[in-house]
Amino acid sequence: MSLLTVGSVAFDAIETPFGKTDKIIGGAGTFIALSSSFYCANQQIVSVVGGDFPSEMIGLLESKGVDTKGLQIKKDEKTFFWSGKYHNDMNTRDTLVTELNVLGTFDPVIPAEYQNTKYLMLGNLSPQVQKLVIERLEKRPKLIAMDTMNFWMDIAMDDLKQTLALVDVLIINDEEARQLSQEYSLVKASRVIRAMGPKYLIIKKGEHGALLFYNEKVFFAPALPLEEVFDPTGAGDTFAGGFIGYLAATDDISFENMKRAIIAGSALASYCVEKFGTERLTEISKADVEARIEQFVALTDFSAVEKII
Ligand code: AMP
Repeated sequence: MSLLTVGSVAFDAIETPFGKTDKIIGGAGTFIALSSSFYCANQQIVSVVGGDFPSEMIGLLESKGVDTKGLQIKKDEKTFFWSGKYHNDMNTRDTLVTELNVLGTFDPVIPAEYQNTKYLMLGNLSPQVQKLVIERLEKRPKLIAMDTMNFWMDIAMDDLKQTLALVDVLIINDEEARQLSQEYSLVKASRVIRAMGPKYLIIKKGEHGALLFYNEKVFFAPALPLEEVFDPTGAGDTFAGGFIGYLAATDDISFENMKRAIIAGSALASYCVEKFGTERLTEISKADVEARIEQFVALTDFSAVEKII
């Protein structure tokens, strides 16, 4: 089934306790599209880059089955640039630079061929742009998922609330869930946030896994314990890409299938953090992802517990 991703395609410069990069390819849209391509063969991207963005990277996306007709290239302008520095715990980071460049005036144009998309993934972008995309689709997709961040809660809460009212799934981290809901308990936060619009809420807890809330149901998936986390940039987007890519490929939005999609996303995210930027995602195969999923199954094997009940 078709999947449309809207999100930043960017240059990033990253500093972690293990090293530092110059400008490398990043952006929420890039991570989502690369990740979802492991499951979904038929997908499209709407985004914008400057004339400085390497055509080889656009070629790489196309080689993964991503239609890039909706990726605008503003020849005389510069690509969005973000720079961040991780603290020693690797769970927290400071944004050092955000240069919006082409993203500052981004007008998301939806090519006619994308109009019938069944799955829409709104990556982290201004909530006004996210809303505009929904409004510009003539037919509402079967499922709309979105990501956002504290940055937008700080400067555009009203717009964010309007966009939230239009989506089905919200994917955010625990800190963002607390800020959005003004509740510390994630269970209470999940009720407050779902009352804002999204029926499904996924709260990511970094190395502590992810929670899925729907009606009175809750599902928890751990993160794979990794020996080394090299660079967490894009892990959240990679998770979201695997999640929506799996749902689109199976065209099943039941709660049970969402559990599988969460494991698919978690497996991909566990690879993303092993190298800088998108590098690891471009090296691994579908068989590698499946091997990680088997590790998840073994990690959460509760069958022995039945004997104590
Ligand atoms: P994550 O680590 O999942 O939060 O995503 C990191 C990616 O988000 C980086 O590759 C950045 O290029 C991108 N990014 C950071 N800030 C923004 C922003 N304000 N708008 C859009 N994309 C952003």
